Amino acid sequence: MAERLIVVGGDGAGMAAASQARRRRDRDDLTIVAFERGHFTSYSACGIPYWISGVVPERDQLIARDPATFQDEFDIQVRLRHEVTGIDLERREVVARDLAGGGEVREGFDTLVYAAGAMPIKPAWAHIRGGGVFGMQTLDDGAALRDWLDGEPKPRRAVVIGGGYIGVEMAEALIQRGLSVNLVERADQPMSTVDGDMAELVADAMRGIGIQIRTGLAVTGLEERDGRVSAVVTAEGPIPADVVVLGLGVRPNTRLAEEAGLPLGPTGGIRTDRRMRVPGLPGVWAAGDCVETLHRVSGMPVHLPLGTHANKQGRVAGINIGGGYATFPGVIGTAVTKVCDLEVGRTGLRERDAAAAGFEFVSVIAESTNRAGYYPGARPMTVKLIAERPSGRLLGAQIVGWSEAAKRIDTLAVALWNGMTVDEMTALDLGYAPPYAPVWDPVLIAARKAVDALAATS
Ligand SMILES: Cc1cc2nc3c(=O)[nH]c(=O)nc-3n(C[C@H](O)[C@H](O)[C@H](O)COP(=O)(O)OP(=O)(O)OC[C@H]3O[C@@H](n4cnc5c(N)ncnc54)[C@H](O)[C@@H]3O)c2cc1C
Repeated sequence: MAERLIVVGGDGAGMAAASQARRRRDRDDLTIVAFERGHFTSYSACGIPYWISGVVPERDQLIARDPATFQDEFDIQVRLRHEVTGIDLERREVVARDLAGGGEVREGFDTLVYAAGAMPIKPAWAHIRGGGVFGMQTLDDGAALRDWLDGEPKPRRAVVIGGGYIGVEMAEALIQRGLSVNLVERADQPMSTVDGDMAELVADAMRGIGIQIRTGLAVTGLEERDGRVSAVVTAEGPIPADVVVLGLGVRPNTRLAEEAGLPLGPTGGIRTDRRMRVPGLPGVWAAGDCVETLHRVSGMPVHLPLGTHANKQGRVAGINIGGGYATFPGVIGTAVTKVCDLEVGRTGLRERDAAAAGFEFVSVIAESTNRAGYYPGARPMTVKLIAERPSGRLLGAQIVGWSEAAKRIDTLAVALWNGMTVDEMTALDLGYAPPYAPVWDPVLIAARKAVDALAATS
């Protein structure tokens, strides 16, 4: 009889695991059933802000593979609109509620992949009977917001609570749709994924497109009128709102896993080994936003919920379930985003992470341009490097600038991944032509500056 693989969660991590397992084992050897409580499989949550803004016109452009494709091309059965409500590791069975038809289904398994993603943090006060308050994690969340924005009465005033990258991207999307947008952030600055000095550049760009930023201000409640949200409550008084988007971060979606006995780590994510196996539970795997992973620079466990990791981890789990051998080596925290044309990239540790990990370090900021100064379209580019003292090893990097800024972070990510020192980086053979870089690339200029800073402190 074929072995049975059950997948909980039908997006990036879960379906990557299912597809990779299928590539290595045919239907006579392995039956694969995936449970997804939403309406979609294998979608790009990362694309939601661009669908909300209208840059991506159609919702279905965000869907890589639908359940019919999984069935026809991969022989993977997807139970859409089925929410797994219990996992019994003793009986090797999951229980799921059919959200569309009602009733309960039970499915036995030999192998389980838990890939239930993350949950937007939603404080107790963030509930309104008639609606208007949205967390963002799944395409269903995005669809619910789109419906609200398209519905009557048309929302005109938006408040985004929290200025992480999702809050920033959603604020931009709402401005582009023509709403007035307030972004309220409890910290001193939005865009906490980079250091404060770099975040200030992002905040300027946000103000430049009309987003009103209120920092150092905590939201303590919501007001409603006729069951719809009408304002967010702050110490400085209410801010009117017809729609509220929560950008307060996410936490691993682990309730079911915890109840079933899967071990959680210090970050609250599920613990796995490098092959994405859950330790101590044979046949149980986990991947994606619900797990914690190793930060290769700090050596600490981290919860870094990003699509790039979710897909890789799912793939690793699937290869191993399929009988192959693959490992996930951890992360270094590389991420990119943008505010209109201003691009933001980061990798490795911020100053506060480096300090928390116990490193001694120098940090430098180098101002340069994306192209030769005389070439049309030359714009400023700011590169920040954080290097260990006295070794000179690169610990972290951030870039803010116009075109060609964000993906330059990949050069720095590769240097960091390979343990390069800033001294070694000064000689890197990077491409140069006036339309793409000054003769000294901004990365090289920053590396030279870091070398000087290290020399000055030795
Ligand atoms: C607005 C936004 C922008 C983003 N931009 C980027 C970006 O630019 N780059 C980047 O790398 N990452 C980005 N991300 C993060 C990225 O989308 C996630 O890291 C990725 O989707 C995680 O994949 P996953 O499969 O682990 O979890 P999810 O995508 O959350 O999928 C988990 C699935 O499990 C389902 N599920 C949960 N519980 C159950 C249950 N009990 N039963 C059945 N099904 C269940 C959920 O409905 C969901 O579909 C963004 C996220 C958002 C929200």
